[in-house]
Amino acid sequence: MMGDIIHLLPDSIANQIAAGEVVQRPASVVKELLENSIDAGSQSITLLVKEAGKTLVQVIDDGSGMSETDARMSFERHATSKIRKSEDLFKIQTMGFRGEALASIAAVAQVELKTKRSQDELGCKICIEASKLKSQETVACSIGTSLSVKNLFFNVPARRNFLKSNPVEMRHILDEFHRVALAHPQIEFSLFHNDLEVYHLMPGKLSQRIIAIFGKNYQKQMASCEEATPLMKIKGYIGRPENSKKSKGQQFFFVNKRYIRHAYLHHAVLTAFEGLIPADSFPFYVLFLEIDPVHIDINIHPTKTEVKFDDERSIYAIVQAAVRKSLSVHNLSPALDFEVDVNIASNTLHFKTAIEENPLYQGTGSSGGTKSYMPNYTPKSQNPQDWESFYENLKKNTPEENPAFEPEHSPELLTFPSKANQISGKGLFEEDTQIRRNFQIHNQFIISQVQSGILLIHQKAAQERILFDKYLQNLQKKTGLSQRLLFPVEIELNPSDFQLILEIEIEIRNLGFIFDVLPKNSILLKGVPTEAIHENEHELFEGFLEQFKNYQSQLSMDKHTLLARSLSKRATQRLRKALNNLEINALIDQLFASTNPNFAPDGHPCFVKLSLDELSAFFVN
Ligand code: ADP
Ligand code: MG
Repeated sequence: MMGDIIHLLPDSIANQIAAGEVVQRPASVVKELLENSIDAGSQSITLLVKEAGKTLVQVIDDGSGMSETDARMSFERHATSKIRKSEDLFKIQTMGFRGEALASIAAVAQVELKTKRSQDELGCKICIEASKLKSQETVACSIGTSLSVKNLFFNVPARRNFLKSNPVEMRHILDEFHRVALAHPQIEFSLFHNDLEVYHLMPGKLSQRIIAIFGKNYQKQMASCEEATPLMKIKGYIGRPENSKKSKGQQFFFVNKRYIRHAYLHHAVLTAFEGLIPADSFPFYVLFLEIDPVHIDINIHPTKTEVKFDDERSIYAIVQAAVRKSLSVHNLSPALDFEVDVNIASNTLHFKTAIEENPLYQGTGSSGGTKSYMPNYTPKSQNPQDWESFYENLKKNTPEENPAFEPEHSPELLTFPSKANQISGKGLFEEDTQIRRNFQIHNQFIISQVQSGILLIHQKAAQERILFDKYLQNLQKKTGLSQRLLFPVEIELNPSDFQLILEIEIEIRNLGFIFDVLPKNSILLKGVPTEAIHENEHELFEGFLEQFKNYQSQLSMDKHTLLARSLSKRATQRLRKALNNLEINALIDQLFASTNPNFAPDGHPCFVKLSLDELSAFFVN
């Protein structure tokens, strides 16, 4: 009829729309192709990637292969060999089942498929570009399938431009590769990037696979975790509490060998670790849950990293119990000494919000304690109410406890007009600056006599503030000075950290690190920033990287600020240093010449001020 305007979309357009969901970036292609190879029963799978997958993603397997007809069919939408009827949806054993991937990929790339089954003499080769069949021919090839995807999004410039830098895209590819390789340790995997071999993983046990992926040092860092209940089985490894990291990324759940994200189950693991690790850190785990597919629904998201369980609470309880058991069976809990482990002790103080860098800071809402900055004063009074009200007064000095707190305007805070600071804080300190009355105690604190009382300065926080300013300036002006190492150290990184280094290479050099990039994911560290205070350069560098990843995942700040914060934090981590008088005075001068003497970059106060009245109040009422 005239005037009817609705018509069916041609397949090529429908596929391109579907591709928007399935294919977001080269890593999505990697995931789909690897999973197809696994579903095809392959023993050995090779992944070739060029320019972080932007120009080529190719997967070669030795699996079942396809007949000529199936090969052609595989690119049709909703074409799958994996389910036939709707009931099958509830007992899925394969990775794929939607029959969408190849059709979607072929809609937005140039695809070449070569495949042969064991019973066939010859294989077949099919070329498809933007859903259009370009050629189909019979060829001689080996058993299995090779699928190459060239120039992803060549026909969708908007999406192509949307792709991130090569290092970023490569990190996503590595993430997918890690997940698939962990889920199938019995399969041999290789990964080549721009013709360089990144991984060659031999078939073996899960523990061997973990070590092959994450590095030899994981050998001593993990404990097995197993549990069997009628509802489900758990198998896998958890990391020792002391090896927990401050960045996410090494937490893996697999349900029936399918990688999933699950905030609720992640929480179950975290609560099992509660009290053993600092609040802001993440334990390593690779946990496989095996459960009858009738209890799960994997159909809720096209990229299938989410799963719904019909009985989430029981699953939660089982996961938590399994992890707890593993921690106690392996005796991991008592091995931890909070007093001795500097890493952990230093983390128990922790502001959720960075005050000055965060313009949204309103002085409310954070809950961590800063009480350790308060005098440790617990008088054995007969009348507890008295001292509590006294203590309340003290508490108001800390921003967290006082909801009205505003860093810039609080009368409790000392503010310094920037020019005046340069002249060593005149006015604040005793008139007679020749004889400054500053003392260091326990290599950790400095007591400084000021006109109206004393300042108790936290040496580490002060140093962190000073270094942060310095590093930020170095980054902006590209002026970081280096101290050459007598003996350069080779640092072996895992491939994803290596990619990260390449991504921020210029900035790291501007900070003052000197290094050569070596093949095979290593660097040769030859120099470190002059001001960095650390005995072990290797540790400094890795800690800095770790810190950066952690901040990057949690804070939205510009790269320079994140880098300066990461390095200043790590460079001062174990700071307990005896200072002579000159150094003490220099530290105080630099602190009060800094951009914000009141706080370290992460919001910890750098000092508390006690007035003479407050001091007297300790003794007389
Ligand atoms: P799905 O995996 O959801 O079934 P795909 O579009 O990924 O959908 O694949 C379509 C079909 O092509 C699969 O069902 C399978 O029969 C076939 N296929 C894809 N890749 C391979 C492979 N590497 N080896 C053998 N068969 C394959
Ligand atoms: Mg598939």
